[in-house]
Amino acid sequence: MNLSFDTVIVGSGVGGAAVAAALCSDGSFTDGAVLVVDAGAGRDERAGHDERAGRDERAGHDERAGRDERAGPAESEDREGSAGRNGTFVGTRFSDVYPTASSIGSGISSPLMSRRARPVWRMESAVSALKHLMDITRADALFSKKGILKLALSEEQAAHFKDAAGKWPVYGQWIDTMDAGRRWPAIHAPFGALHVSEGTSVSLPAWSEHLIRYATSRGAHCMTDARMLSWTERGPKITVRIRVGRGKNGRIEGIDTSRLILALGADYLRFAELAALNLHPIKGQWALVECPHFEDDVIPVSGAGYVVEEKRIIDEKPFGGQKQFSGQKRFGGQKQTKDSPGLSLGSTFEHAYRHLRTDRGSLSGMISNAAQMIPAVEQSRVLASGAAIRVTVPGIRLPMVGPLRRDSNVWIFTGLGSKGILMAPMLALELPDYFSDPGSIPKEIRVTYRL
Ligand SMILES: Cc1cc2nc3c(=O)[nH]c(=O)nc-3n(C[C@H](O)[C@H](O)[C@H](O)COP(=O)(O)OP(=O)(O)OC[C@H]3O[C@@H](n4cnc5c(N)ncnc54)[C@H](O)[C@@H]3O)c2cc1C
Repeated sequence: MNLSFDTVIVGSGVGGAAVAAALCSDGSFTDGAVLVVDAGAGRDERAGHDERAGRDERAGHDERAGRDERAGPAESEDREGSAGRNGTFVGTRFSDVYPTASSIGSGISSPLMSRRARPVWRMESAVSALKHLMDITRADALFSKKGILKLALSEEQAAHFKDAAGKWPVYGQWIDTMDAGRRWPAIHAPFGALHVSEGTSVSLPAWSEHLIRYATSRGAHCMTDARMLSWTERGPKITVRIRVGRGKNGRIEGIDTSRLILALGADYLRFAELAALNLHPIKGQWALVECPHFEDDVIPVSGAGYVVEEKRIIDEKPFGGQKQFSGQKRFGGQKQTKDSPGLSLGSTFEHAYRHLRTDRGSLSGMISNAAQMIPAVEQSRVLASGAAIRVTVPGIRLPMVGPLRRDSNVWIFTGLGSKGILMAPMLALELPDYFSDPGSIPKEIRVTYRL
């Protein structure tokens, strides 16, 4: 493989995958110009399952401190059994990568978010960018077409929702209790609901995989099981050190590039320079439960958490073969099926946590929240559960995009929080403009460091 690329994207979650697809849809990124590197073996691993649990103990935090603080950033001692900064053996304490946020299963995208159904930042642009990326990548089949039913949990909330429906009628319509009962008998909506018709749901692993497939069909290369260990930037040249494969078969490679985009999700914590960014990791637990029998398909609902029908990855190879894949395993591999494997329930928001396991209390809390919205869920068996970290920018809760320092060609694309589905396409599609003029990056999302 050619080990020199114009642009290297590290991370193929919803963020990195959207960036790869957006760049490759742009004529200025020619065949072979883009490389995507991901530490994961493939998106078919539903990482975050409890097999990884128990090893985190908020790892990156301890290990990274006190290392070479200079940029560039060697990764904090990793998981191969090396000694930590105080000589502590850290090798087996945590998983090879943090469970990635994009592997949690299905999530929702709602332009009218929050308890008061206020529009998300740049709502119109975000919604149309998501549609555009769906269109150009022919991803229609992955997305639910039913909108999101946002249930009011009190009279007060119902008043906010009616107000939102009045102000943004294209995005959401008010549905009273009677009407909701008629249209969606399985759903309990005692205070009515906002039908966010411009909302949607999608399997995050399926969507990110699809975007990567699209990118590779347009000339991008993709390496899986390839973990970035460090990078160095000297003038216009950036060298990225990666470890390809694991254990005895692992080898270290250097890749030269003129632009590096870091879409690492929670793994930013492992790099000293990135750990100083003004970011905040929030643990979220999810569960997959058996789908009760419904007469009709279930509309995705939100309110007390969310409930979404989980769709399996569609393996239709819409862009032909993926010859450019390298690494041990291809993405995907699941067969298309019409059966729903269950309902995805989300999620907790835990600002302080000591591990990345699920816990019984949160799991039963998620089930009872879901049953408050869809009573039949009360009887559902739990099929799987897990936890991952979503990265946010504290206070503002908007993404963070831009060069790490003025004149640097190392960019961060992160902070997608719980709006990755909606925010990633818009920012990814705008990225080429930001490259040409970093001053055009909206000030709300520029890179900031903790003081
Ligand atoms: C429980 C839960 C529920 C959620 N629900 C929703 C929802 O309903 N709607 C919504 O929009 N969002 C939701 N989110 C948030 C959403 O998952 C994130 O916004 C999104 O997945 C973030 O994508 P990302 O690409 O930034 O990071 P990630 O998905 O974490 O991807 C990072 C990628 O980088 C790779 N990587 C990391 N370090 C390295 C390295 N050193 N070398 C190589 N590769 C590396 C990882 O393997 C991974 O593939 C939820 C999150 C959680 C945890």
